[in-house]
Amino acid sequence: MAGVNHTDTKQPSIWERVRADFPILDQKVNGYPLIYLDNAATSQKPKAVIDAINHYYTRDNANVHRGIHELSNRASVAYENTRTRAAKFLNARSVDEIVFTRGTTEAINLVAHSWGGKFLKPGDKILLTEMEHHSNIVPWQLIAERTGAKLVYLPITGGDCGVLDLQRVDEWFTREVKIFGCTHISNTLGTVNPAAELCAKARKLGIVTLIDAAQSAGHRPIDVQEIGCDFLCVSSHKMCGPTGIGMLYGRLELLDQMSPYQGGGDMISSVDYFQSAWNKVPHKFEAGTPHIEGVIALHAAMDYLDQVGRDKIAAHDLELSAYAQEKLQELKHIRIFGPERGRAGLVSFLLEDVHAHDVVTAADRRGIAMRGGHHCNQPLMKKLGVESTTRASFYFYNTHAEVDRLVEVLREIQQFFGNA
Ligand code: PMP
Repeated sequence: MAGVNHTDTKQPSIWERVRADFPILDQKVNGYPLIYLDNAATSQKPKAVIDAINHYYTRDNANVHRGIHELSNRASVAYENTRTRAAKFLNARSVDEIVFTRGTTEAINLVAHSWGGKFLKPGDKILLTEMEHHSNIVPWQLIAERTGAKLVYLPITGGDCGVLDLQRVDEWFTREVKIFGCTHISNTLGTVNPAAELCAKARKLGIVTLIDAAQSAGHRPIDVQEIGCDFLCVSSHKMCGPTGIGMLYGRLELLDQMSPYQGGGDMISSVDYFQSAWNKVPHKFEAGTPHIEGVIALHAAMDYLDQVGRDKIAAHDLELSAYAQEKLQELKHIRIFGPERGRAGLVSFLLEDVHAHDVVTAADRRGIAMRGGHHCNQPLMKKLGVESTTRASFYFYNTHAEVDRLVEVLREIQQFFGNA
């Protein structure tokens, strides 16, 4: 990253200074300083986010949109202020285009159910890519079964590099395709897909588009108008916010046409014993008491990320993962997955003859937290011809020194398994 000199040991970089905002990072695990490299699963939370939850429960806790008392007013204002903040964070045209969900998974299920359930017909096609997370596959399988629509997959190419076969995209964008769902950043490969280019192609054919931004929203600036998507799905817990909360951005015109997702309080304008009328968008999609403290703390997370600078975070991701790739390549008997250049902040790999779970367990004994497994990408694993990978995923509080230590530990593991 420009301006950050990782070889200068005297002057802490902004990334080293930022670590002080994350109390959890200052601890030993199994006798070693914690090195947290499982950020693609969930990120750590800065003090500002923890304080926001604490403040809500010590000062403002009340149900939203219901009471007329002071605490309820405060909670409701804070809840709706987050919607306004989220619209700005994603550059939505209107605040009504932001629906709070439990996360990316629920946002995709909402679209599959409420848009797909209403508009998909037998013979229609749902186009996904071969690198989708289970949460952008299974909801579509469920709705395909209900509606008679068919699933088709845009292939990946390049062997272990795992990039979309962009040369052949036009073959897959056919007239039968009604919706295209695509991950912005692959959680296994670190591939960054050209979301805007793909959405523009789809739009020309009247295909509705959904971008899974679970891995990108906290790692780079996101502009839904620039991407030109109809839907975009976000998880708060991967972007410094709490778990159990996320966002669906939906183009207002589409949200208006869609059926409700769940029934209950708040999503109605009136209820009779035999029929009801729906509240206006976005409340039509937020049935029941929401995750109020989650929404309020998500506001703090978005403020925090913008304070750090999302463009700076993206540059740091790019630099740190390139550095990790370069260092890992120095090891013998290693297979690295994902693109050679321009990968997001994660690296998946396999050490020859050592199971990914053994690597993760051995690394954990030395205080390094990583993920080993299929990463909810079973079809992609099959395509790559593996069962699992070890994944080191970075965030802006990770340092070059931590990558160096990771490589040192992997060397030790190889030595232990007689494979150095
Ligand atoms: N899509 C991608 C690309 C992901 O990495 C994840 C989380 N691993 C999800 C969707 C699902 O996110 P959540 O579990 O927060 O709903």
